[in-house]
Amino acid sequence: MVYDPQNIFAKILRGEIPCDKVFENDYALAFNDITPQTPVHILVVPKGQYVSMADFSANATDQEIVGLIRAIGHVARAAGLEDPGYRVLANHGADARQEVQHLHVHIFGGRDLGGMVRRAPVMPPA
Ligand code: AMP
Repeated sequence: MVYDPQNIFAKILRGEIPCDKVFENDYALAFNDITPQTPVHILVVPKGQYVSMADFSANATDQEIVGLIRAIGHVARAAGLEDPGYRVLANHGADARQEVQHLHVHIFGGRDLGGMVRRAPVMPPA
């Protein structure tokens, strides 16, 4: 897991490209997803350089972990999602189809989100 400082979220964190910011604390930045998949679709990213949840959970400080989790709860609450409900998701690696190699937590909400994980198509026998 080598962190690439040229990934798009690193550039957002450095202010090199804009984002639609909804929240920031000492440890995390939250902004609207550029291609929302639900009426509310917010990404929460740690400010530290972590590739994914695997990297973050193993190497982040306790303060960084608390800062990110508190940010997720705050952002969902502020978006009005606590009562109707919301989904939190982080993709790690190829099977999860992680696209951006800087940990980001998706917050989905604003409608009934349906079942949790769609079944993968059954492959015909070789
Ligand atoms: P993932 O598949 O978990 O890596 O998700 C990457 C997410 O980043 C996708 O939902 C993209 O729409 C989103 N995304 C990519 N570039 C940007 C950007 N510049 N600003 C906001 N969201 C972005």
